[in-house]
Amino acid sequence: MLVVMSHTATQADVERVCSTITAMGYTPAPMPGAQRTAVGLVGNDGRVDDSLIAELPGVSRVIHVSNPYKQVSREWRPENTIVTIAPGVSFGGTDIPVIAGPCSVESEKQIVASAHAAKAAGATALRGGAFKPRSSPYSFQGMGKKGLELLALAKRETGLPIVTEAMDDSGAYMVAEYADCIQLGARNMQNYSLLKTVGKIGKPVLLKRGMAATIQDLLLSAEYILAEGNPHVILCERGLRSFDSTSRNLFDLTAIPVVHQLSHLPIVADPSHGTGRRDKVMPMARAAVAAGCDGLIIEVHPQPDQAKSDGAQSLNPDQFAECMQQLRRVADAVDRSIAGVA
Ligand code: PEP
Ligand code: MN
Repeated sequence: MLVVMSHTATQADVERVCSTITAMGYTPAPMPGAQRTAVGLVGNDGRVDDSLIAELPGVSRVIHVSNPYKQVSREWRPENTIVTIAPGVSFGGTDIPVIAGPCSVESEKQIVASAHAAKAAGATALRGGAFKPRSSPYSFQGMGKKGLELLALAKRETGLPIVTEAMDDSGAYMVAEYADCIQLGARNMQNYSLLKTVGKIGKPVLLKRGMAATIQDLLLSAEYILAEGNPHVILCERGLRSFDSTSRNLFDLTAIPVVHQLSHLPIVADPSHGTGRRDKVMPMARAAVAAGCDGLIIEVHPQPDQAKSDGAQSLNPDQFAECMQQLRRVADAVDRSIAGVA
């Protein structure tokens, strides 16, 4: 439930609403806005009787949030949420930041070269997994803590903030020491314990849509993080499993306008995992910008044919630079801009 205060409501009116909510056994979540304040009610899992609140002084109207998720919904917060992962790198505004880098951190040379290539082309954040969720236990599992240290080194060299994946609760605390944004992968979208943990940690989270998850599932997973008090969530569309093996996944670009309608959270697109094929990454990255994405995450490797994971979908530095040029033109056409300078 959301209590919308009138624009003439006083601080005392807002406090009265909050104390009434508390007395009813729920938690008030005041949200001051430019025009007026709204007070959310959290802690219920069914319709709340609003009779004690609707008539209080300063209350304009009471909205019952009809979706199973609420703090992530547009009804709860009409304005876009802007998630800032580092000074000047924000998702959810007019600028479209691009996160680039290899699938996995493999060596100092590889990650530093990737970071320089990403930065030179205009990316504003570096990706790279140190903990890799691989389909086979015999595949490269990532460098672990050493990989995080190498990411920190690449950040010192280039200034690029780090986006990297955490796979479990104890790993999340370790990742949080190095990452500017903690990535939760498609396979962990419904790891509720991990969602609660990153909610408690409070750092920005990049939450990837599960490969067979509905948009409602995705929003409910984000709700777990917000419910722990962490509002810094960026959603990510990375493709769905489908019957067609032509591409690795079915890249669901419809998710972008649908999420914008249902939620105030930013959504970024991952055309690398979305397609699985290097030659499909550029066209789908362009399409994602045209569809209104709030950022992109793209796999870039100095030598894709030697990559320990996802080489087939990784762009080389020249291809990535060309991709960024094309994205600038598309962004311009839809009144957005690709963040950063090349
Ligand atoms: C990745 O980003 O390298 C990754 C493993 O992505 P996903 O969780 O979307 O498969
Ligand atoms: Mn990958």
